[in-house]
Amino acid sequence: MKSTVVGSYPVELKELSSSKDKLLKFLGAHDTYKDAIKSSVIAQLDAGVDIISDGQVRGDMVSIFTEYIPGMRIEDGNTFIVSKIRNPTKEISVKDLQYAKKVMSDYYGGKIPEGKGVKGIITGPNTIVHSSRIQAFYKNKEDAIIDLAHSLKHEVDAIAKKAEPSYIQIDEPFLSTGMVDMKTAREAIDILRDGLDVPLAMHVCGILSQAFKDISRFNVDILDFEFAGNNVNIGVLEKNADLIANKKIGFGCIDSSVNTLDDAKDVEELVKKAIEIVGKDNLILDPDCGLRRAPKDIAFGKLKLLNEIKDKYS
Ligand SMILES: [Zn+2]
Repeated sequence: MKSTVVGSYPVELKELSSSKDKLLKFLGAHDTYKDAIKSSVIAQLDAGVDIISDGQVRGDMVSIFTEYIPGMRIEDGNTFIVSKIRNPTKEISVKDLQYAKKVMSDYYGGKIPEGKGVKGIITGPNTIVHSSRIQAFYKNKEDAIIDLAHSLKHEVDAIAKKAEPSYIQIDEPFLSTGMVDMKTAREAIDILRDGLDVPLAMHVCGILSQAFKDISRFNVDILDFEFAGNNVNIGVLEKNADLIANKKIGFGCIDSSVNTLDDAKDVEELVKKAIEIVGKDNLILDPDCGLRRAPKDIAFGKLKLLNEIKDKYS
């Protein structure tokens, strides 16, 4: 069994202390987020996480991408589609991921151990379009989703080539809402997947009763769901395990919606159940969703608990 995080980690932006840092900041060369990435990576590694993220410290999951995508505009925190969606103006997350990987490599004395690594994370085109408002050019969301998939494909390929991640995860929380056209959604993921030589994961939060059958047909290697925060999904998985026999399961077994430490017994029972259903070799344990809103010590405690259980059953 391996462990990972869904993505985000609590951010702590440090005050600049040295005059050199202050000068660099004045010149636009100091990146205050680098320290936040470093501390989130070290926390994940100290907790025993195998496949880490860069902590997604830079901002919310939509604007972090749309800021660099022509055709989309952010105003007061809302995203609008204002013209045809084109390719990103720069690589968005590659440098942060490369930095996270360097911190990881240093942590292990210069060589990342076998089976450990970083994962690239992209917010999916379905979720971005469904959380944006179309103001011009597109008559329907579906055409915008396909164009955005082609745009985000550049980021996916850049991550694969330059950061060499263990896998790439597409975040599509909207797929469980019933609002998304599943045929378009699948086509969009196929565009992101085309020619990719690293495994692809898709994270969907929420209750799966309605959407599981559709989601199980997506052309990805890993499906990542939440199982701790609701008591419905484990039953859905149990009933439909044959549909995902060719996939691994990112198994959310820590409740990221509460800022208290989970009951170790409850988590253990859930993991035991998952091992019965899909087998431990097909499981990647993680929290239900990102941990951004948790206090730092709670976030760390949650990851530590997760990894203790992983070690016990691996
Ligand atoms: Zn989520």
